[in-house]
Amino acid sequence: MSYDCEECGDTFETLSELRLHTCEPALKDSPDDEGVSTTLDRLLEQTPLETAAVHEALAVYEARLATAQEVGNTEEYRTITRTYAEPIVAAVDASIEDNGWTALADLIEAYHPDTGDRLPFLTPVLENVTGRYVIRTRLEDGVASIPKEALTYFEAVYEAVDDEQDLIREGLHPYGWGIGHPDVAVGEQLQAIAAEDESLVNPMLEHACYADQDAAIDLLEKIVANLPSAADDTGTEFSTARYLLDAPAGAASRYEPTIPRYWDRIEEIGTRFTLSTINEDRIRAIVARENLDDELPDGWVMSDLLV
Ligand SMILES: [Zn+2]
Repeated sequence: MSYDCEECGDTFETLSELRLHTCEPALKDSPDDEGVSTTLDRLLEQTPLETAAVHEALAVYEARLATAQEVGNTEEYRTITRTYAEPIVAAVDASIEDNGWTALADLIEAYHPDTGDRLPFLTPVLENVTGRYVIRTRLEDGVASIPKEALTYFEAVYEAVDDEQDLIREGLHPYGWGIGHPDVAVGEQLQAIAAEDESLVNPMLEHACYADQDAAIDLLEKIVANLPSAADDTGTEFSTARYLLDAPAGAASRYEPTIPRYWDRIEEIGTRFTLSTINEDRIRAIVARENLDDELPDGWVMSDLLV
């Protein structure tokens, strides 16, 4: 398969090369430029959306976000994402469902964090469709069927993301669905993240609970047992152990997960979740070991552990 540039007509062997080639005067405002809205509307209207049209829509979206960012037009940036993030995610996801893993693998390679100095503007879109792919694959074919590159993509984004990039940080939550993968040490990675970023590991652990609650509680026990005593100084009213218990409590309380965004399936997964009695007992044992009873009401239930 080859990749053609709509603007200059050059042909490339990989989507990466197409995305990163120097193309002039691509997507500049010109009298014959139909404008970002018209271009995207036209592309997204096509059903089914051909792969080339998906790539073109992503290129237009990325270029317009880059332009808005360059000229410091935050209002324009917000308007573009507010209007197009959802339909673009839906179109890309549908195309991946039709064409399988190679369609997503192409995108992950083309928009990988290692393609530039800053995370690509499309990172939230890629995280969304990768999250959906990981979750679907696990539910339908088992954890071993999740391609390694889908999980290591999240790891690469985690390495590159800044504390302030909330939208990109939230897109990382579905990484927890990789727990127990035979070739990617997701559990070890989550332990490492717990040591540096508990506000991120918490929702990842919640997602791990949806994927495999026994494995997630194993991991939670391990993380809590290995917390350095200094980690208790979180700067909040909660100890780290207390804070991390929010993850299974969130799942058990059927607090509907919202990531990946715009996806009913993840809400249903959250609504259907039931914590097993054995795992509830294990959580109660953690509470007792960590002397957290005093912070909880008498006869406390799982939802009292929400923070
Ligand atoms: Zn070109």
